[in-house]
Amino acid sequence: MKYFLNIEEIRPLAKGHWDYIFSALAPQLSAAMEQPGKHVPCPVHGGKDGFRLFSNYQENGACVCNTCGEFRDGFKTLEWINGWSFF
Ligand SMILES: [Zn+2]
Repeated sequence: MKYFLNIEEIRPLAKGHWDYIFSALAPQLSAAMEQPGKHVPCPVHGGKDGFRLFSNYQENGACVCNTCGEFRDGFKTLEWINGWSFF
């Protein structure tokens, strides 16, 4: 099934709620969500401690993996983690 979402309409609604959104849509992030800003194993490629959510990730959902790259907002994070495409 294909959904059509206008990300620019959703973005302001999601702002500040990425902890809830990730809990529902990306449970792989639970270790990182328990300690935002701290390094944990990457939920996609594994490893030891190359991944972290930014300490204020609830605001915009940004995260970074030393190997996989930086994901500037929660939509990019969900695309990467779940293999989705919003754009
Ligand atoms: Zn990674």
